Amino acid sequence: MHDVLVIGGGLAGLTAARVLTRAGQRVRLLEAAPEIGGRVRTRVMEGFTLDAGYQVLFPDYPAVRRNLDLGALDLVPIAPAGVVRRGRRAEALGDPLRDPGSLGSTLLSGALTLGDKARIGRLALELGAPPAHTLLVGPDESTESYLRRQGFSEAALDHFFRPFFGGVFLRRDLATSARLFRYYFRLLMTGGAALPRAGMGTIPAQLAQGLDVRTGVRVTHLQPHGTHVTAQTSAGELDARQVIVATDTWSAAPLLGEEAGQNEATPRGSLGSAYLYYAAAAPVEKQHRLLLNGEAGLINNAQWMGQAVPGRAPEGQDLLVVTVLASAQGGVPALDDAALDARVRGELSRWYGEAAVSGLRTLGTERIPHAQYPQPPGYAATLPGHATPLPGVLRAGEVTSMSGIQGAMESGEKAAAIALNDLAAMSRPRGA
Ligand SMILES: Cc1cc2nc3c(=O)[nH]c(=O)nc-3n(C[C@H](O)[C@H](O)[C@H](O)COP(=O)(O)OP(=O)(O)OC[C@H]3O[C@@H](n4cnc5c(N)ncnc54)[C@H](O)[C@@H]3O)c2cc1C
Repeated sequence: MHDVLVIGGGLAGLTAARVLTRAGQRVRLLEAAPEIGGRVRTRVMEGFTLDAGYQVLFPDYPAVRRNLDLGALDLVPIAPAGVVRRGRRAEALGDPLRDPGSLGSTLLSGALTLGDKARIGRLALELGAPPAHTLLVGPDESTESYLRRQGFSEAALDHFFRPFFGGVFLRRDLATSARLFRYYFRLLMTGGAALPRAGMGTIPAQLAQGLDVRTGVRVTHLQPHGTHVTAQTSAGELDARQVIVATDTWSAAPLLGEEAGQNEATPRGSLGSAYLYYAAAAPVEKQHRLLLNGEAGLINNAQWMGQAVPGRAPEGQDLLVVTVLASAQGGVPALDDAALDARVRGELSRWYGEAAVSGLRTLGTERIPHAQYPQPPGYAATLPGHATPLPGVLRAGEVTSMSGIQGAMESGEKAAAIALNDLAAMSRPRGA
């Protein structure tokens, strides 16, 4: 019999299994998909390294620092600000989050006013002082209302904050909790953002090293017996003293006997997004920074990945990754792949001209209906805990904390701490 069975091989389940295995427990992790990683995956196609969508790692995430060997990930820093595109205009913002003083010299045009520059500097001073996790408590409001109270101009909201934090929270309307905005702003300011050279998929691969992981095995039913729990799976039955369910909430509900709508842990909704990958036979522009769409449109942000992370495109070629948010005007689901591609190419033509864009080869389109869950002001008060209605069964997954890599990994750590009765790790504050 195993000590602990972990269900789900996303970052939450992998982190839980890693902590427990290192504590000497006999642990098995079951993942329904053919590969581990959940929402964090990478594939190589015709020599191009494609992550599942566009996502970055914040190396200052505390749970990342505790559980990953960052050196082995070969992280390539990504400039946390970017270039605001408005048609042919490309306005480079310096690095206002990590180096507020540099903004004046690197701001090439009026994407932000001088007053906005000063306000970003003030924000950096204010948010840089306290420990990051303390920014997750206190009064809450929407990010938009918080930024307006700070006095930011409409231009700052539209040209920088909407596309930049739209990329982080997968919604451009700045309706996400201001507590989260402050937390992420702070982490970006101190640690920036980065990408593992060989792809985000190296993160779950590193977590899985040395673990007993079975892929392609779906758990279909859990039966507690007092001293142990029996899991029915697509590969037969398995007994364990404890079980950690680290799946998405939709998959967890039937396993935990939670009917939709009857429990605080029922699905919290989804923020989806679509990604278009374009191969360029030669670089279209020299630009390693994140491109932010400062105008209305389907594109929220884009990156010439071959330049941002050398090695992600074959020698001499480039890879453009375009992010379209499902909440974008026009709605992603309403468009089929060809129509989406045509619309995005139309918008890219406004940046680069039709001739350059017609030279781009579409490598693929990826739709991710559930990338994150919405986190409006006050959302944290309704988070489900790790306890479940089933004796011997714990819950993990970003849904217990916050939607993102830190939330997923710290939820895995917490569930493992409860299973181990490790009081110190159990009482670590959210986000710490
Ligand atoms: C496009 C995109 C962009 C993102 N951008 C960022 C970003 O920039 N920064 C950031 O911090 N976060 C970002 N995120 C969010 C981050 O990836 C997630 O928060 C995190 O990966 C969630 O991990 P998880 O383990 O909680 O869930 P998941 O990754 O969903 O893992 C759950 C796993 O459970 C498995 N499973 C389900 N049912 C069963 C079953 N019955 N039996 C066995 N296995 C089962 C699933 O197959 C899956 O592998 C992004 C996500 C996406 C998709």
